[in-house]
Amino acid sequence: MPGLQAADAVQNGTVEMCHTASYYYFGKDPTFAFGTAVPFGLNSRMQTAWMYFGGGMELMNDLYKKFNIYGIPAGNTGAQMGGWFRKEIKEVADLNGLKMRIGGFAGNVISKLGVVPQQIAGGDIYPALEKGTLDACEWVGPYDDEKLGFQKVAQYYYYPGWWEGGPMLHNFVNLDKWNALPPAYKSLLRTASSMANEWMQAKYDAGNPAALKRLVAAGAQLRPFPQPVMDASLRAALDVYAEVSKTNADFKKVWEAMLAFRNDEYLWWQVAELTYDTYLVRNRSRT
Ligand code: CA
Repeated sequence: MPGLQAADAVQNGTVEMCHTASYYYFGKDPTFAFGTAVPFGLNSRMQTAWMYFGGGMELMNDLYKKFNIYGIPAGNTGAQMGGWFRKEIKEVADLNGLKMRIGGFAGNVISKLGVVPQQIAGGDIYPALEKGTLDACEWVGPYDDEKLGFQKVAQYYYYPGWWEGGPMLHNFVNLDKWNALPPAYKSLLRTASSMANEWMQAKYDAGNPAALKRLVAAGAQLRPFPQPVMDASLRAALDVYAEVSKTNADFKKVWEAMLAFRNDEYLWWQVAELTYDTYLVRNRSRT
């Protein structure tokens, strides 16, 4: 099946199961975005915690059920990069009119900053950047981006991808087929999916550092998004959440649940996790 039609094939029983990103289907209902990642949502650890123990799987399956789908988490890239820009972004105004390839629901947010979002499949991004029909693109992170060669046609490599703090993939199973499985088979599918969830993140975490070093050696200019750009993006995201929540009760319910979970997670994160990481990042060269 073409990538963006995998869920339809599961929904109508053409295939029994697919591995896909829930947010591809935000056009059916924007609530699908929460299964993968939303701007300023959860990091990958939190996304997994929310799904398994924070009520996320139940909330998302309440939605998927309406589309005859049962969803099981099965993979995560970790926080993604903000992507490749042909020109430096020094202030919010520099985003105005920029044609950028950006996936899914995030386009609704970044368009509020003047960016013209484009949905382009992976293989078509490079030639569009090279020709200048695109000014910027985001894909995944160093390990994947290097393979597509973006560093050759766009010099500035921004971080973080604030729209994908911990994007999760899913196995989507046709709901009737899922219900017909004996308990042991359901358990096997859950276990295999859980292993995929761990395997994928571990592979990215292990592969990204070397890829980042090679990209920088090849001339990529690594840049953090300026703070005013981050702040304007957060405001734009909150506006979009408020707007969509007015007309979509499912979206409102899931957004509020995820937000409460995220804020509690960061309450904990700032105590041990962040202190540990920040200390060692600062002292990396001395230890
Ligand atoms: Ca991405």
